[in-house]
Amino acid sequence: MQHPFSLSIEDKHLEGKIVVALGRISEAFRVLLWKEGKELSLSPIQIQFLIFLRFHAAEQCSVSYLAQEFNLTKATVSDSIRVLIQKGLLRKMETTDMRSFRIRLTKEGLQLAGRAAHFALPVEEPLSSFSEGQKEALFTGLIQLIRELNKQGIISIQRMCFTCGHYEQKEGRHYCKLLQQQLLPNELRLDCPEHEGGR
Ligand code: SF4
Repeated sequence: MQHPFSLSIEDKHLEGKIVVALGRISEAFRVLLWKEGKELSLSPIQIQFLIFLRFHAAEQCSVSYLAQEFNLTKATVSDSIRVLIQKGLLRKMETTDMRSFRIRLTKEGLQLAGRAAHFALPVEEPLSSFSEGQKEALFTGLIQLIRELNKQGIISIQRMCFTCGHYEQKEGRHYCKLLQQQLLPNELRLDCPEHEGGR
């Protein structure tokens, strides 16, 4: 059986090489998040929370939602949120239940989240040298892979076109009923604010 992590020169199956490449890129994200966290005196997950809260609607800014989004327990999320509140980067909007209140970025949190959101630039910048065709092929392949991993319950992305109530396939093409227009493969969304359904 071929193994993606085999170093054998005979092991030429492309799927395995793609798996190894994705692993390396995942490692790059881990390193970049740690680097950013070190500079800001925050943990990688705290950085990810701040960035998420910066760009998502108020109803998605709760401990419960973050726990589902990042596949963490509510207790783990609550611990990080408590630290971010203590640091003056977040504030509670409702105080009824420690695990269900909504959270909002403070002015300092907003600034810091805006800065932290650039942590992945070293990954993004080299992509600008790719041709449009290369970028489209890469994106199409990745979104298909994410869809399959989502179906298997490995990736919890709930706001992509493929899981949206407004999405349908028309004559083999992607179509958004809300926008009432066909979506080209490079127009499919992974995190759409108009997403319908999911949770
Ligand atoms: S509403 Fe957004 S997620 Fe849903 S199909 Fe349209 S573009 Fe895609």
